[in-house]
Amino acid sequence: MPIDFTLTPEQRALQLSARTFARRVLPEVGPATRRLATPEARFAATRPFYEEAIREGFLQRLIPAPLGGGGTGLLDLAVVAEEFQAVDVNVSLTLFATLLGLMPLMIGGSPEQVKRFFGPFLARTGAPLAAFGFSEPGGSANFNAPAPAEGVRTTARRDGNSWVIDGAKQWVSSATGWGGKGADLICVVCRTDAAAPPDKAISVIVIEGPADGIVLERALESVGHRAHLTPRFRIENVRVPEGNIIGGPGAGLQLVEGSFTGTAALVGVFGVALMRAAFDFALQFARTEKRGGAVPIIEHQAVGYALADAKTAIEAVRALSWRACAALDAQAPGAFELSLQAKIFGSETAVRVITELMRVVGIDSYDLQLPLAGLLQDALAYPLFDGGNMGVRRRQLHSLLKSPGYDPLTASGAA
Ligand SMILES: Cc1cc2nc3c(=O)[nH]c(=O)nc-3n(C[C@H](O)[C@H](O)[C@H](O)COP(=O)(O)OP(=O)(O)OC[C@H]3O[C@@H](n4cnc5c(N)ncnc54)[C@H](O)[C@@H]3O)c2cc1C
Repeated sequence: MPIDFTLTPEQRALQLSARTFARRVLPEVGPATRRLATPEARFAATRPFYEEAIREGFLQRLIPAPLGGGGTGLLDLAVVAEEFQAVDVNVSLTLFATLLGLMPLMIGGSPEQVKRFFGPFLARTGAPLAAFGFSEPGGSANFNAPAPAEGVRTTARRDGNSWVIDGAKQWVSSATGWGGKGADLICVVCRTDAAAPPDKAISVIVIEGPADGIVLERALESVGHRAHLTPRFRIENVRVPEGNIIGGPGAGLQLVEGSFTGTAALVGVFGVALMRAAFDFALQFARTEKRGGAVPIIEHQAVGYALADAKTAIEAVRALSWRACAALDAQAPGAFELSLQAKIFGSETAVRVITELMRVVGIDSYDLQLPLAGLLQDALAYPLFDGGNMGVRRRQLHSLLKSPGYDPLTASGAA
């Protein structure tokens, strides 16, 4: 079969419905949230928009079909992510963070767990939130490091037929939920054995919110994603049934790594979305603004070349990210490498390109009334989150390159 990036008719329909929804509903998120003083208030004000996305089926349609949803793979997510993120990152990230929160169950949940936990997320009603409770105060880049490193500090101990969970988490999207006492479902990464090495000690256990032991310390005031909730919170003596552990004690390392593989490719697409929004604005500006001169500024070669470079970068990142998604969907051997490259290259390219487009537009781009500065603020998260490019993603790529038997041609499917 020839190399072909053509979407299937179903994916194309999904893309167009996501675009229509994003353009109709999501432009209002900014005006509805911007002037609110606290992150909690801004997040709360996104709820009607999130509910509308749920009602329109954008969560249900992205959950894999074998689990009761309509999703056919990561490329579906990529297509929706680009359309949503290009208009508003806040509600969009809440949606994708819910998918991330469900990911350990998608990968390692038993049929009984899927049946027990997935109902609200398939229902197309309300505002169900799931969270992936990985990051901890004090850092999580070394979550899988053996002793004497601390690794994961949140613990779960067996007590009769229950697990009792204690610890602290931060930066976990939506984790404390709409009411501050927990998302509907939190997959908590924790240590179930104090003495064992990470591949036997780390587990993922489901907490169903609201739970009394979820204690919100503060919603973090972030540079971008201003209406998306990333709280710091404590988990105090939260007791859950023993059947809430996913894949059994010690399965956590694989569940975390598996969950964060697909997201890496998606972050590349997030980068495309913000670059695309920035490019659309800068192109329009350059075509129409003379800035006191005789001709629109696009007539100046420096401006035209900068736009040309920006557009090239967008297409390159989209191609790499889609390629990574397609490789993950096909479970191709080079998929992990491609998804890491999409994450690193896509996120850093987004920050660079948006900065360059601000130079094209000039001083007015520094005004938050125009979109570019806000897009840069949002893009700054991409190299840092979903496993920072320094502490996690380049390190993973580095280990891959060092591993015996690594073949540089595997990622290109030409080994
Ligand atoms: C908007 C947003 C949403 C988020 N959503 C979630 C979520 O839903 N769930 C969740 O769990 N987290 C979430 N996060 C946090 C995010 O996933 C972080 O990427 C994660 O906590 C890891 O951070 P880090 O890579 O900076 O690691 P840290 O441990 O904080 O490391 C900090 C720095 O130390 C250095 N470093 C540490 N160890 C090494 C090493 N071994 N080698 C080289 N350098 C090292 C690196 O320079 C690294 O950048 C979110 C963050 C944001 C901004």
